[in-house]
Amino acid sequence: MSKYDYLVVGAGLFGAVFTEQARAKGKTVLVIDKRDTIAGNVYTENVEGIKVHKYGAHIFHTNDTEVWNYVTRFATFNRFTNSPVANYKGELYSLPFNMYTFNKMWGVVTPEEAAAKIEEQKAEAGITEPKNLEEQAISLVGRDIYEKLIKGYTEKQWGRKCTELPSFIIKRLPVRLTFDNNYFNALYQGIPVGGYTKMVANMLGDTEVRLGVDYFENKAEYDALADKVVYTGAIDAYFDYKLGCLEYRSVRFENELLDKPNFQGNAAVNYTDSETPWTRIIEHKWFEFGKDEEGNDLPKTVISREYSSEWKLGDEPYYPVNDEKNGNLYQEYRKLAEEENTRLETEGKGIIFGGRLGEYKYYDMDQVIARALEISRAELG
Ligand code: UDP
Repeated sequence: MSKYDYLVVGAGLFGAVFTEQARAKGKTVLVIDKRDTIAGNVYTENVEGIKVHKYGAHIFHTNDTEVWNYVTRFATFNRFTNSPVANYKGELYSLPFNMYTFNKMWGVVTPEEAAAKIEEQKAEAGITEPKNLEEQAISLVGRDIYEKLIKGYTEKQWGRKCTELPSFIIKRLPVRLTFDNNYFNALYQGIPVGGYTKMVANMLGDTEVRLGVDYFENKAEYDALADKVVYTGAIDAYFDYKLGCLEYRSVRFENELLDKPNFQGNAAVNYTDSETPWTRIIEHKWFEFGKDEEGNDLPKTVISREYSSEWKLGDEPYYPVNDEKNGNLYQEYRKLAEEENTRLETEGKGIIFGGRLGEYKYYDMDQVIARALEISRAELG
């Protein structure tokens, strides 16, 4: 008899949701994480009353009512709406691409004029079936916007030419002929009041959590503790990279505490030229409207410059590079994962791989939660 029904490796969103669901079914769970903190990359750190999104900005948004009803059991959400600004060599544009953007770019005033301008640029480019991100972007918004607002940013973020990137990445961005700066087409959006860490802590409840422990250092010992493992780390790391490393993009954050109340007047400013070395600057206080939990104005501000880099062993993986080459390699790892589970089942055990790293997928938070709920249901009934 194992001591626990489940060992959950990783206290991020996937792990926390699975844990919550398993506990609700009366299962015993041990959660471990190699970091000293829970909440994975949605962890927020308190600096001078400001919740700093330590591993990158996270804005919760979803169209999935089940997911929304689920998360709101663990946190109250504020009414933050993501409206990033693009800074191209000092020219400011509204994002996502909407009438404000088109007006600033071309001086067009009506939706008809904007649509005509986009059509004209599409026709000039002569693209019928977009084969890559560059062609997809130009056929969505035309060459001017591609050159000023997409090309530099995307190539910095992914470290690859837009002609070598899959087109689905750019389809994440809405294009609208309305004056709507809301970045997401989502029914529900906001930031948890009190931070994501508190929300994840609420999901974990009184579950036993051991932090600062490396699963792989004592794998056999941890495996022996539970009937089944829920593994949310990188799938290639689990197999000791034996088929080769999957590629990830990593991000380095340069944080600064500034002795002024307002640095850029917005939570996110994207630097879309190719010369500026950072991709964007996040000013964290604006996720909470510049107020502390009591509603007081905050006199200081924390900003983070984000630098994107190719992941190498030892770095934090952030974005899976979901191109064809990596997709194929992932499928090979997926086969190994299934074989591993089959092997464990003969011993009355099992393993589930989940989350952005475990499934090597560019998931948003709501998709991770939806997937964790789906897997929990399949597993727990
Ligand atoms: N993107 C862009 N210009 C911008 C913002 C985004 O070209 O100012 C492109 C870029 O290719 C990026 C993709 O849109 O990879 C998705 O952006 P999103 O903001 O969804 O990425 P995330 O917030 O996950 O980093």
